[in-house]
Amino acid sequence: MQKNQRSLIRKYFNDDLYFELVKVTRSFGLDNNQRSRAVKQLLTKENIPFTALGSGTNRMAVLIDGYAVKIALDADGMIDNRREFLYTQRLQPYVVKVYECIPNGLIAVTEYVSIFTLDDFHNRQDEMREILKEVSVQFLVGDVGITSKNYVNWGVRTTGDICMLDFAYIYDISYKLFICTCDDVSMLQYNQDYTKLVCPTCGKIYPFIEVQKRIKSSDQEKEIGDIRRIGYNITHDNQLVEVNPEFEKYLEDNNKKKKKNKENDDDKTEESLNDFCLKMYGKTYKELRKLQK
Ligand SMILES: [Zn+2]
Repeated sequence: MQKNQRSLIRKYFNDDLYFELVKVTRSFGLDNNQRSRAVKQLLTKENIPFTALGSGTNRMAVLIDGYAVKIALDADGMIDNRREFLYTQRLQPYVVKVYECIPNGLIAVTEYVSIFTLDDFHNRQDEMREILKEVSVQFLVGDVGITSKNYVNWGVRTTGDICMLDFAYIYDISYKLFICTCDDVSMLQYNQDYTKLVCPTCGKIYPFIEVQKRIKSSDQEKEIGDIRRIGYNITHDNQLVEVNPEFEKYLEDNNKKKKKNKENDDDKTEESLNDFCLKMYGKTYKELRKLQK
């Protein structure tokens, strides 16, 4: 069975613009604020109907045709886009849906949600905590904990539900990140606001960044891999594709709205987590969690 697949990236970003954007990510003389301005100039020059949404550390976002388009400003931003594309399905409905991503991560298209106001941050902390509790069972969560520093990484859907709009610092815990150095078995636990981790045995406090440093970039690269395996590979903005039920599941289950390009699929979290734990510790994940209690 075939179907028509549309691509916002293919529609608006031609090859020339793509190469200009790549150049921006490699312009060593510029900091990321300057790069962000350079990207906006390029989009304006190409007559792309965009509205600027904001700039983060490694990426900037613009609104095009009702979708948020995240453009990497450097190599880290490219990894962030790929990581979000890889994780979006497993983290539904707690994060924005990522519909498209260029294989190298330069551009990604996501669901648009309105960014938290300070009021949202104050009023919806119980919901944030619920979501973080749920997600942190399987993932290391960073940069989305409940602090005034992070609230702009959260947003509100038109349905009124909240979700994370920047979630590139959420990692599969199969990275073995959670073990304290005091005895090599104690599993770190979050504080109430999910802003840091604490060892229940020795009490040592780990800021997220310290745990994150344990992730080797080679491991990260291996994990994300070639994202072309998890979505349609489109060369035109409107193209017939052979339907892959695996890629369809996520779109149908979660949202009836018409969608763009690719998305990902990986329902094997539990399975791979167990494989990992068995390999590392000779115990299943559940057994390990029990031991920690
Ligand atoms: Zn410890």
